[in-house]
Amino acid sequence: MKIVALETLRPRVHPNLLLLLLHTDAGVTGLGEAFYGAGAVESYLHDTVAPVLLGLPDPTPERCARMLTSYVGYQGAGAETRGNGAVDIALWDLLGKTAGLPLVDLLGGAVRDAVPIYNTCAGPGYVRTSTRQESANWGLHDTERYDDLRAFLTDPGRLARELADEGIGGMKIWPFDRAAERTGGTEITTPDLDEGLAVLEAIRAEVGSRMNLMVELHGLWNRPAAARILAAIAPYQPYWVEDPLRPDAVDALAHLAAETDVPIATGETCVGRRGFLPLLTQGAVDVVTVDVQWTGGITEARKIAVLADAYGVPLAPHDCTGPVTLAACVHLVAGQPNGLVQETVRAFLRTWYADLVTGLPQIDDGSIRPSRAPGHGVTLRPGLSDDPEVQHRLTRL
Ligand SMILES: [Mg+2]
Repeated sequence: MKIVALETLRPRVHPNLLLLLLHTDAGVTGLGEAFYGAGAVESYLHDTVAPVLLGLPDPTPERCARMLTSYVGYQGAGAETRGNGAVDIALWDLLGKTAGLPLVDLLGGAVRDAVPIYNTCAGPGYVRTSTRQESANWGLHDTERYDDLRAFLTDPGRLARELADEGIGGMKIWPFDRAAERTGGTEITTPDLDEGLAVLEAIRAEVGSRMNLMVELHGLWNRPAAARILAAIAPYQPYWVEDPLRPDAVDALAHLAAETDVPIATGETCVGRRGFLPLLTQGAVDVVTVDVQWTGGITEARKIAVLADAYGVPLAPHDCTGPVTLAACVHLVAGQPNGLVQETVRAFLRTWYADLVTGLPQIDDGSIRPSRAPGHGVTLRPGLSDDPEVQHRLTRL
């Protein structure tokens, strides 16, 4: 089997998203995906990857991962790594379709049939218009359903009740981000701290301890300010605090981890085994939140999962980066003995994810299960390729 064409699609509805199709001479097509900097990734795929991949005999994920390792651009989730991640997910999809097996079976088989989810409380328009992680890119809307971001800011108790009633056992919120923007993360004032704590208080008052709380800090803080927030939220017994500092501040994170009882989750922006190793060896991470795409693909993510397991650290893959990535995550986490929980965003699953693809993993009663279709199970919605609102580029052998 050879790959004979590399096709990319960029739906105008979501400028951060790039979908990748690898077409083979056997008539099978693999689907991958990249998120953020879609134009740069598109150029990388057609200019640099296509000459390597097209016509290559037996393009297995592991072989291609080695061949596509770039001389520069491999440290950090740059365009090369995100492009390689998209290719790798598409290659695993091809492998599964060729073998007639779902991805989770290719990876060794399921440890459990379904994995608990938590809901990241974003709205449908979250991080849609730019690549910035800032409140100006939150896409807040007054009237859209599932605007869970506005809801956690304005009526967190009602939102927690609604999620609990759906059977969802965890919710992720980021009530301190705007405070970080006010000071550049150098300090948090007492009123700002109280404003964020009020969100946690309202959730606990409404649903008690039955809702796991993930408090996301987006790596916006300096260490002393982060330490103050952790001390303040500890009485609310959050399930974890996420990215209290940027994960490349390994020493500072290790200090923080030693000072607090709040579990620290990090890793969605870390790249590869070598990106995670220092965090694990220094005890700076309690939950690995790998992003299967940003870290370079399933081939790398499965090795990260094993590495984390060797350190006794559970795995909680990241979502928020597209429907294909979510499907790949679910196959991975269902097959790992240290698979803990899967991030999902109901506002995405019920709006733009469903608009673009079919075959998404199913959620029932707060748990998600991998598709039993060959590969990752996700395919483009019929007609999407011909949609005039989708920008195409094709490179053939
Ligand atoms: Mg995060």
